[in-house]
Amino acid sequence: MFKLSLQALGNIKNEAQVLHLVKRVNARALATAAQPKVEKAKDNAPKESRSFMLNLFRGVVEPAQVFPYPEVLTPEQTDTLNMLIDPVTKFFEERKSTRSAVLLSKGLSAASPAGPPEKKMGIKASNTTSVYYEDVKIPVENVLGEIGEGFKVAMNILNNGRFGMAAALSGTMRTVTRKAVEHATSRIQFGRRIDSYGTIQEKLARMAMLHYVTESIAYCLSGNMDSGSVDYHLEAAISKVFASEAAWYVTDEAIQILGGMGFMRDTGLEVVLRDLRIFRIFEGTNDILRLFVALTGIQFAGSHLRELQKAFKQPAAHLSLILGEVTKRGLRSVGMGATPNLSNHVHPDLNASAALAARSVALFGPAVEGLLVKYGRGIIDQQFLLNRVAQSAIDIYAMVVALSRATRSLQAGLPSAKHEALMTKVWCSEVS
Ligand SMILES: Cc1cc2nc3c(=O)[nH]c(=O)nc-3n(C[C@H](O)[C@H](O)[C@H](O)COP(=O)(O)OP(=O)(O)OC[C@H]3O[C@@H](n4cnc5c(N)ncnc54)[C@H](O)[C@@H]3O)c2cc1C
Repeated sequence: MFKLSLQALGNIKNEAQVLHLVKRVNARALATAAQPKVEKAKDNAPKESRSFMLNLFRGVVEPAQVFPYPEVLTPEQTDTLNMLIDPVTKFFEERKSTRSAVLLSKGLSAASPAGPPEKKMGIKASNTTSVYYEDVKIPVENVLGEIGEGFKVAMNILNNGRFGMAAALSGTMRTVTRKAVEHATSRIQFGRRIDSYGTIQEKLARMAMLHYVTESIAYCLSGNMDSGSVDYHLEAAISKVFASEAAWYVTDEAIQILGGMGFMRDTGLEVVLRDLRIFRIFEGTNDILRLFVALTGIQFAGSHLRELQKAFKQPAAHLSLILGEVTKRGLRSVGMGATPNLSNHVHPDLNASAALAARSVALFGPAVEGLLVKYGRGIIDQQFLLNRVAQSAIDIYAMVVALSRATRSLQAGLPSAKHEALMTKVWCSEVS
């Protein structure tokens, strides 16, 4: 007997729609299977990845993953993004599961009727309830993807939900900021419009900056997915964490700017705040996702260290690897470690900010390595440290994405370019 939410099925009205959805999903899964498999490396060299995030954990960057900033989506690409299952395979290639994902329609025999809707703090238009299934016979056409591949399907769905949140919450932030600006530019207190006060100006600036960074992450990530990137699970987790925290902060500040009026239901911000609260909880709590980001990245860095360990056991066979590492560490110990150069990728106006981001990358890799050397496998229990590793990774990713987008806007001469550059500079100086 198991319990599940009916939420995902809420919009499905009849069997034909169910079958259509299954076909659509399975077609997508087939397309996934048809993707050329990444050749397994013959030697045991550390995995090469195009993921900006994964490389970051070894203290290097893959600028091609974020520069140049992707073009705005075509309608065809938008349609692809709307598909339920995306061709993401790499992360799950080695994971085998005995679980299968199935689509359960209301008409299946032996299903208990849905319970009453839960009484929730927000998102009340979405029905959350309990349904119990016991000895239910599920038609084979209702299997999503392949039998035994349920974990992969579930994770793909979560990945899709996560990256989409940054896009959805960008819209939320835009709306609540607009409300705050409308109020601030019309409310007079102590003889002046309140938008003339530095406190209100700083709040609005910070709200706009967080909105800009969130939106930049959403566009960059979806652009990379559209151009065939399959290694984006860390970026998707980051976009969910960043967007849900930013939207919470921005909405809270919008309420503050409206003062007492912000607390009134009729103003319309109270419901947004209540609805937003769940975004930090569902699709994986932000706390768990931070651990996921840190541990997945650390695992990647760890595999590199393990290879190095092995190489030292047979130095003659791995001379160039060892020499490279010895040189890198030698230079680092005298303060001459290689700092990635992002200046080739950013507009000259943003060079100083790019240097801040590059310096953060250069410090991050050795910091992660140091933790691994100190704690080994025990790092998994050091959540206090893991949370800080994750926050650093999130901040660095957010910096380079903002740098990339602002560069594109400056190069294209967009009317908003100078404003974008200003927000990017402030962001980089605050989080570096
Ligand atoms: C309105 C609503 C809609 C939902 N919709 C869906 C849906 O459509 N599909 C779906 O699959 N799920 C859905 N969920 C479930 C949701 O994803 C989970 O509630 C969420 O992932 C948290 O799991 P949990 O409630 O079991 O909390 P728990 O796992 O019990 O966590 C409780 C707290 O402990 C923390 N915690 C747990 N483990 C650790 C650890 N190892 N280290 C540190 N901290 C830890 C968590 O971060 C959290 O703060 C929905 C939930 C709600 C409320």
